[in-house]
Amino acid sequence: MKYLCPTCRAPLELRADRLTCVPCGTGHATVVNGVVEFDGCIDKESFFEKQAMERLETYYADYSPARFRQILEQIDLWEMDWANKRVGITTKYWWEPHIGRITGKRVLQIGCGVNYQVPSFLLHDNHVLAFDICKGSVDFLRRIIDKVAVPTDKLELAVADATRLELGERFDIVGINNVLHHVEDKRAMFERAHRHLKDDGKLIMVEPNYYYPPRWMIETEVLDPFNPVKDYFVRNDLIEKGEKAIIFPEMRRQLAELGFKIDKTFKDPNYLGYFTVYWVRNNPALLRAIFELDKHLFSRILPAALAPFQYIIASKA
Ligand SMILES: [Zn+2]
Repeated sequence: MKYLCPTCRAPLELRADRLTCVPCGTGHATVVNGVVEFDGCIDKESFFEKQAMERLETYYADYSPARFRQILEQIDLWEMDWANKRVGITTKYWWEPHIGRITGKRVLQIGCGVNYQVPSFLLHDNHVLAFDICKGSVDFLRRIIDKVAVPTDKLELAVADATRLELGERFDIVGINNVLHHVEDKRAMFERAHRHLKDDGKLIMVEPNYYYPPRWMIETEVLDPFNPVKDYFVRNDLIEKGEKAIIFPEMRRQLAELGFKIDKTFKDPNYLGYFTVYWVRNNPALLRAIFELDKHLFSRILPAALAPFQYIIASKA
């Protein structure tokens, strides 16, 4: 069994529908329709259910096998489908110019959420173990994967906590995609990411930057208790209460301490596009103009420290 006891790391054994640690005498997870669901995985603020369930239904309404393959070809922000565009990252497959196409690999997707990545990894003949702490999100991803008809014989899904999951297997690629800012104990998560990465594997990660000015306005405590913009975002479930984006210099230090070396780090140049996309959603010409402006002008004059997202590709030191 590849799942290990979160306490003693002994392999869990399947007893009826429960994954159980025999030495500890404790059950840790239940297998439901082939998905391993660890106990105690509760999305604290139930952010996903509230904010996203119905909206996700509409974003993914037009997904079909043919439409999905077309969507994967729409790589840049201005042409992307809305479900991926609204995330705010300007380019799909952003890692490819640096490490090439990921194909025939073993991929661990931490906090997989719902996006193009897991189904496209499956399409490219990878073995994927994807998990999220939010059961709603794992179930929805499973439905999308079935809807777009990609092979699922190399897919394993789990509902699990990134700060507790222990696996008796290591991976070529560990992916972290917009997850960290929901995780309190980042150290526990990175320790596990390191443990589950092969010696020649790559950690690929993209996270929002705390110092991107519009985000700072919403997340800072400096303006509390009077921050109507923040109140608006929390009230409308646009951010999680207490959600904090990443302070990258701190995170890079933490990665180094835990035995990673950073191969590449770079910014996503979505300075204007990140927030204007909501207003010009149905105007591809204007979207493209903003995309080009960000890419060729603002990315030159604005520092990485103020970019909306930053990327990291790391390996074991
Ligand atoms: Zn145990």
